Amino acid sequence: MDKIRIENLEVFANHGVFPEETKLGQKFLVSITLHVDTRNAGKTDDLSKSVNYGEVSHFATDFLRTHTYHLIETAAEQLAEAILYTYLPVREVNIAIKKPWAPIGLPLESVAVEITRKWHKVYLAVGSNMGDMETYIRRGIDAMSSLKDCRVKRVSELIVTKPYGVTEQENFLNGCLEIETLLLPLELLELLHEIEAAADRKRELRWGPRTLDLDIIFYDDEVIGLPELMVPHVDMANRSFVLKPLAEIAPYMIHPIYRKTVAQMLSELKEREKGNEKDHIV
Ligand code: ATP
Ligand code: CA
Ligand code: CA
Repeated sequence: MDKIRIENLEVFANHGVFPEETKLGQKFLVSITLHVDTRNAGKTDDLSKSVNYGEVSHFATDFLRTHTYHLIETAAEQLAEAILYTYLPVREVNIAIKKPWAPIGLPLESVAVEITRKWHKVYLAVGSNMGDMETYIRRGIDAMSSLKDCRVKRVSELIVTKPYGVTEQENFLNGCLEIETLLLPLELLELLHEIEAAADRKRELRWGPRTLDLDIIFYDDEVIGLPELMVPHVDMANRSFVLKPLAEIAPYMIHPIYRKTVAQMLSELKEREKGNEKDHIV
């Protein structure tokens, strides 16, 4: 993606762990790289189609002057978030905060913290098979969209499906959603668990009845193999209750390991299921 770079913006502010730093203040040099699609602005010469770097420079200066943090790590983190919330065309931001006068009693040139933060594109599967299933699902989605660091972009239709794994239970209502989030994968998983808990979810039996289940299907095109989090969801290729609603909102999304689109995975699953039915008849 295209970039707009602001380099070494001088800001006099009061961040630091030492009392003299917070009291007297010092100079910081701030570099900001905004990842923005500038194609339209470049073709039309129209500033409203880009992000105004003058405005962002003033925004960053005001932000760093009106907040005081012990750490430049925190200053960078908070400024990155504030920019991503405020300037919608900015998909990703890189921030470096340099302290040329860091008071460590040694002649160093400068010390700096540099971070990159972005809106991640995530697909979630949602399911319920207890009580008022649709209300549990809608409330779960609302809970997510009420958070500052999550934006719900698309929600598929909810479909009624037969139970999977443990088959002696009520039918399910299933769907998928696309969200954008600033949360990292494990932070997102923790949030999903909180939303499930708020819907009275009990974890008694894997694949057993539940008021609300929220699974991460894709997180950008990352592959994550942790004991508590596997992404893409390991069993998605075998689940039409995931692939059908997902194909509605993201048919061309490519699975980062199988290198197949969602639409392709769905049609292959249908073929396999047809084959299985024939085997049973014979
Ligand atoms: P399944 O994951 O096969 O659909 P389930 O949703 O019924 O089963 P849960 O009881 O909801 O399983 O979750 C069990 C654990 O699975 C969670 O606590 C979580 O740590 C882990 N997990 C691993 N990968 C994922 C993922 N991609 N999304 C959500 N949870 C995951
Ligand atoms: Ca699940
Ligand atoms: Ca789950």
